[in-house]
Amino acid sequence: MDGDRITAVVRSTDDSGTKAITAGETIDGRGKVVAPGFIDLHSHSDWVLPDPHHGPVLKPLLEQGITTLVTGNCGFSPAPINPAHRDLIDESSDMLREDRLDWRWSGVAEFLDHLEKSDLQFNVAHLAGHGTIRLSSMERPMGPASEADVRAMQEVVRTALDEGAVGLSTGLGYPPGMFSKLDELTALASVAAEKGRIFTSHLKAYSWISPFYPANPIRWVDHNIRAVRDILEVARRSNARLQISHLIFVGPRTWPSCVTVIGEIEAAEAQGIDVAFDCFPYTGGNTTIRVIYPASLQENLVAALDRRSVRARLRMEFAVLRRVLGFDFGHIQLLWAANDDYARYEGMRFDRIAADMGVDPYEAYFRMTRVSNARARVMLHTYSGDAQDNGPLRRVIAHRLNLFETDTILVSRGKHNPASFGTFPKVLGKFVREEKLLSLGEAVRKMTGASADRLGLRDRGRIQEGQAADLVIFDPETVGCAADFDKPDVAPTGIDHVVLNGRVVVSSGKWKGNSAGRVLREFG
Ligand SMILES: [Zn+2]
Repeated sequence: MDGDRITAVVRSTDDSGTKAITAGETIDGRGKVVAPGFIDLHSHSDWVLPDPHHGPVLKPLLEQGITTLVTGNCGFSPAPINPAHRDLIDESSDMLREDRLDWRWSGVAEFLDHLEKSDLQFNVAHLAGHGTIRLSSMERPMGPASEADVRAMQEVVRTALDEGAVGLSTGLGYPPGMFSKLDELTALASVAAEKGRIFTSHLKAYSWISPFYPANPIRWVDHNIRAVRDILEVARRSNARLQISHLIFVGPRTWPSCVTVIGEIEAAEAQGIDVAFDCFPYTGGNTTIRVIYPASLQENLVAALDRRSVRARLRMEFAVLRRVLGFDFGHIQLLWAANDDYARYEGMRFDRIAADMGVDPYEAYFRMTRVSNARARVMLHTYSGDAQDNGPLRRVIAHRLNLFETDTILVSRGKHNPASFGTFPKVLGKFVREEKLLSLGEAVRKMTGASADRLGLRDRGRIQEGQAADLVIFDPETVGCAADFDKPDVAPTGIDHVVLNGRVVVSSGKWKGNSAGRVLREFG
């Protein structure tokens, strides 16, 4: 290695292993795997990275071997923004950050410049978020966009991509993304296509029934299937390179649709649509407490919950979800209460919270929504399986179009998501070594080179002369995730060293406290 580049790759002949030599330092890799640094295709850490003290908060990501974060996902990005609408963006991003950002930027170039001055611990490829752009550009973002709105947003997206954004992300199950129509999405995805950049989508629905499509029993199509069809249609019309974010199947009733959904994605690919997807290797994921409320209530959710009639209607709707989806309050775990008086419930599931409060689970959920001002963070379970049956998750993980991500909201407030600590080690330990669901080579390829290709990153993801020196040295016999939903903040096993741009940043499994990250601005 010379500086931040790999200068030569040699396999030593005097012993059976490999040595990674960095500037002035030799790492003994005998019996270990030397892989390119892992690429987390779906991170929400862009709300923490602007703080120069982000290292101690985000180090679990480095310690699991991640060297590159793709940020700005699910439509929420701290850039580009319109400073006049900053309050709205502050409010909508509360769950994702530590403190209020100091907003020394508005455009993507200024944001990336700021990150470069923030003791950056990772390489960062940043997506411009459609939700943020909507909040920034539209007079009434919680509704449909006019033609003029769409034209204005296209300009913002074009500028963001020119300034170094890796692509455009959407979050169609969240406000304000949930209010967008296919024409708007097509117009914006077309800008990404024009620039050859990726278009990512958190779909409108990941469950068999959702609040986002009409529940018409005649000619029923599962809502998650409709959502996949919608986004494939956007890709078809716009010609965009589509990345379906966290392909999950929420609730036991949704799990069987996994075969159909993957079949439709494969069929679209066969017709020439450039599509892939990603997942985290857990049967639960972190999100906002708002996520199960219908679109019509999102704008003034807390005030709406004061009304008895609204609560009565929601009880009926949630009762349907419980019955037909097999998804219950015991599957929702509170991670962050956003209210100190309720912090004792963090880590508990809503059936227990309800028992403790002495109310029914509906009332407990409404109460937490209100006392957190709709800011609470929750972990939803039964994503693509559970402890007994994880068939759909395994099908997604093993699929040739699947890549890996954490999708974790890693902040110091509240309880953690185990994915922050063990995503990549879990794939390598449980799904490669123990269950032989995919080969070690295939798993590493997905985590590195295949992800770099998807993003258009030409100098990362491979161990080759001239490539950036991002490396992970791990023990294939011991690598694994030691964290679970009840004890999420446990360091992984077997990740020995991590090298970022030629500097050792994790040594014997421990973050060293030095910073060596870069902003990535060249794609294609
Ligand atoms: Zn998402």
